Amino acid sequence: MKTVYLDNNATTAVAPEVLEVMLPFFKDLYGNPSSVHTFGGQVKAHLDTARQQVADLLGAHPEEIYFTSCGSEADNLAIFGTVEAQKNEKRHLITTRVEHPAVKATMQYLEKRGFRVTWLGVDGHGALSLDELRDAITTDTALVSAMWANNETGVIFPIQEMAEICREKGVPFHTDAVQAAGKIPIDVGTLPANFVAISGHKLHAPKGVGALYIRKGTQVVPRVIGGHQERGRRAGTENVAGIIALGKAASLCDAHMNEENQTVRALRDKLEQGILATCKDSVVNGQHRLPNTSNISFKYIEGESILLHLDDLGIAASSGSACTSGSLEPSHVMRAMGVPFQAAHGSVRFSLSRYNTDDEIDYVLQHLPPIIDRLRAISPFVEEE
Ligand code: PLP
Repeated sequence: MKTVYLDNNATTAVAPEVLEVMLPFFKDLYGNPSSVHTFGGQVKAHLDTARQQVADLLGAHPEEIYFTSCGSEADNLAIFGTVEAQKNEKRHLITTRVEHPAVKATMQYLEKRGFRVTWLGVDGHGALSLDELRDAITTDTALVSAMWANNETGVIFPIQEMAEICREKGVPFHTDAVQAAGKIPIDVGTLPANFVAISGHKLHAPKGVGALYIRKGTQVVPRVIGGHQERGRRAGTENVAGIIALGKAASLCDAHMNEENQTVRALRDKLEQGILATCKDSVVNGQHRLPNTSNISFKYIEGESILLHLDDLGIAASSGSACTSGSLEPSHVMRAMGVPFQAAHGSVRFSLSRYNTDDEIDYVLQHLPPIIDRLRAISPFVEEE
């Protein structure tokens, strides 16, 4: 059966070039980078190269890059690490209503422990208000944390402006750039953020590796202690092969971002326009988006049913619905955007990568409209005309 993978915001295929550079670290280059002998020393030299490659993708200095096990760990380190560095004295945090659980659940955890959290809302296009951010900051604010690009809709937040507001007010700023890194330019040389979190498996490196940029001079208390690795900010013998892979993946993204974005955007737009033209009652959720993401609501149908039918044809996409306790709740992102229940329920996310082809988009456009027609014909929700 043909397979079409359109779920790249969930995870990406490891790039062949990335796989190639990591393999020696499972064979001959097995030294511990902390060891003083040559086995360790040569591995340490490769780690330094990877750190430089990740730094280059972000416009950072290599000594500002701290490797972690994933994006979630990087987010946790930025948030918990900042709160603790301020000795829990500042009790107010600001974030948005549409964060990934890596930030959302961390903020909720702190909220339960007595912190006050301001949850900035978004409008129907997924955009937030800078004035609201400005007004929310107080002398008690410990940290502002906002995602750069939304994993469900691809909506890009005005991170430059948000970081500048925080700098003016003297408040540390963290951005979860897990979906943005490798897809849109990031330059901490001009962006006054204190933290930027990224994840390997979203940019064609394997799962199990991430990184946190920490601006020089930023105070942060480590979450994993016990070793001197990552300059004492993240203990634990390094996931060497994963880090080497992340470095290579970062340098590939850095080198080819513009041309890849053009190709991916053209395919995404073709898919989107094709769907809007052939599937009645379909709407795109979110404006000002990543070039690879299209979140489309098919009114009166459950997103999960569409996904199962697509899966039968070898097409992988995803829906924002969380299948919890037997009920299909619309995602918190759709709810925050005020997407009506019937549309939120029927939302499907298509997220592309450099490996998608024109043929694959044609295949989806050929098979999706009949699926939508069939499901709508049996939908109990379709309004009487
Ligand atoms: N932040 C965002 C925006 C994400 O999309 C994800 C993963 O989906 C994460 C954080 C968590 O990254 P990881 O899977 O590496 O923990």
